[in-house]
Amino acid sequence: MNFYGFDNTYFLILIAMGISMLAQRWVTSTFNKYSEWQTSKAVTGKEAAEVILRAHNINNVTVEHTSGSLTDHYDPTNKVLRLSDATYDRTSVAAVAVAAHECGHALQDADNYGFMRLRAGLVPIVNFTSRVSMPLIFIGFILGYAGLVNIGIIAFSAVLVFQLVTLPVEFNASNRAMKILDGTILTQDEIAPAKKVLRAAAFTYVAAALGTALQILRFVLLSRRRNN
Ligand SMILES: [Zn+2]
Repeated sequence: MNFYGFDNTYFLILIAMGISMLAQRWVTSTFNKYSEWQTSKAVTGKEAAEVILRAHNINNVTVEHTSGSLTDHYDPTNKVLRLSDATYDRTSVAAVAVAAHECGHALQDADNYGFMRLRAGLVPIVNFTSRVSMPLIFIGFILGYAGLVNIGIIAFSAVLVFQLVTLPVEFNASNRAMKILDGTILTQDEIAPAKKVLRAAAFTYVAAALGTALQILRFVLLSRRRNN
């Protein structure tokens, strides 16, 4: 068993790790920076979310507090919008931007946004393929079964499809958020910083997809080398 092949393509994993680290650093530093910037209207994340939801006639979604950092999310099953410590009762530009982004997901849910439906439909498939793909790839490599490796790579590719479908869902939620915030909850000079927060957050999803693509590329290179 020759494992040198694994080392040779390992630089792809290092690139993926580097991109992921940069993305995390960018979102954390941007969020922290604009958490210091208090909005002139002194509206909390929770209040902003409630104002936005009511203004769009969404009355079946509740806004709750959740612990953790950057754990904000919209739960379409239970119709709950959960805001974290730095968002829920804070009046910063970052808090309002994130709260509005989560409202964007609630609006997508309310108007049956196609990519959100598609993404939800992919969840059970990806839950399964992400669990079986790595064992298939490694067992395939160890036993020298190219077919098993290929099945594993195809299964792993479903994860990339899921991450790619996530991108329009995230970009669209942020676009909706910025349209709503512009001139209502945020003033003109608070719009640019809010955009920066949401752009940095969106990049974490781009980084995740890039990381998966690089991993797939690595497995393809390794399996080709094996077959030659
Ligand atoms: Zn989102």
